Amino acid sequence: MSRIAYVDGAYRRHGEAAVHIEDRGYQFADGVYEVIAVRAGKLIDEAPHLVRLRRSLAELRIAGALADAPLKVVLREVIRRNGVVNGIVYLQITRGIAPRDHAFPKVARPIVVVTARRSRPANPKLAEEGIGVITIPDIRWQRCDIKTISLIGNVLGKQQAREAGSYEAWMVDRDGHVTEGTSTNAWIVTGDNLVLTRAAENAILNGVTRQALIEIIHREGYRFAERPFTVAEAKAAREAFLTSTTSDVTPVVAIDGQPVANGVPGLLTQKLRADYLAHIVE
Ligand code: PLP
Repeated sequence: MSRIAYVDGAYRRHGEAAVHIEDRGYQFADGVYEVIAVRAGKLIDEAPHLVRLRRSLAELRIAGALADAPLKVVLREVIRRNGVVNGIVYLQITRGIAPRDHAFPKVARPIVVVTARRSRPANPKLAEEGIGVITIPDIRWQRCDIKTISLIGNVLGKQQAREAGSYEAWMVDRDGHVTEGTSTNAWIVTGDNLVLTRAAENAILNGVTRQALIEIIHREGYRFAERPFTVAEAKAAREAFLTSTTSDVTPVVAIDGQPVANGVPGLLTQKLRADYLAHIVE
């Protein structure tokens, strides 16, 4: 079955789907995106993804994009046309097409692109054995709370992780505090069982998985705080893990090659992962 994309009002085969060379997304990375998981045919946490999308658009002052109701129809249609039961749907909105000039064009219509793809079930080893992260300087800009398609800092960081044989890179700000992973949020559990993640300010993306897990943590009554933690605190932690739409809750068992505690997934991490997976099938 050939893959089908939605591009600015039409459904096209991937081989024929294209955007204009003066699309501001292509020239300036002037746009936003979302990735929503599809599990057993269901869009997971669609509502908070759309809330975040609207916030990102508002922060970039991109107006006039497809409203939620028609957008939801498009998301479902792309999922259906690609036969996706388990996978992801990708949605991108750019400011539109205009002669190249940094300032906003006087007239431009936002361009929406939606694609979907199936994914194989995640390798169970990742959750059973945990993964390693490296730490790298956070070289990104100061509005990482906006989910823009401008991802070069994240791209370079992920590549560095891959070349180091690690799953993810945790980025570190100038004060020595971990911000987040290149495509995931970062968490630790301290020696006294306090679950810690950085507060959702400008330095990180407020992950939808992060938001769902915080609700679970409150519901289950675990000790929790939102505050920055240092690389040293992470290395001395009892447990560590990361969250995202595509990696759920995944244990981190090594940081810069050093085992976290005894180097196996933590018990609380495993419990939170199970609770999160239960939330998905609700
Ligand atoms: N942080 C960054 C930089 C990301 O790119 C992502 C996801 O793409 C996340 C965190 C996790 O966000 P979510 O849980 O909404 O997938």
